Amino acid sequence: MMTSNIAESLNAALKAARNLPIDILVECLRSLVQKWDWNNSNNANRTLTKVSTTTENELRHGIISKMKYKVFPFNPIKYQVRDEKGTNFTVNIHNKTCTCNRFQEDKMPCGHAVAVIAKRNLGVYDYCAKFYKT
Ligand SMILES: [Zn+2]
Repeated sequence: MMTSNIAESLNAALKAARNLPIDILVECLRSLVQKWDWNNSNNANRTLTKVSTTTENELRHGIISKMKYKVFPFNPIKYQVRDEKGTNFTVNIHNKTCTCNRFQEDKMPCGHAVAVIAKRNLGVYDYCAKFYKT
């Protein structure tokens, strides 16, 4: 049972453990707070990884177009991305920039950045600005 008062919530959750020895009661309390913290963290992260439908469609377009791109790392942060026409772009994954300028202007990975993100097995949503997230 959850109430707005943390003491009431703890009392309700620990009702069965109240008659146990103090060390077991403390362990129950610790595991209860750990479980709440885990659930709250997961809920917060799940909320932050959702993006709007329009953003999702644009990212999917980037993912489809990146399949034609070749990625050459300069270092773990900076990459050269060559498109199907042979044009080169430079993506800085740390600064969230690309020489096509879409990454920094849209605050969302362009196709070149998506290619780098996919190559490094990173989360594409982590590179979207918060205002795209629901
Ligand atoms: Zn780009």
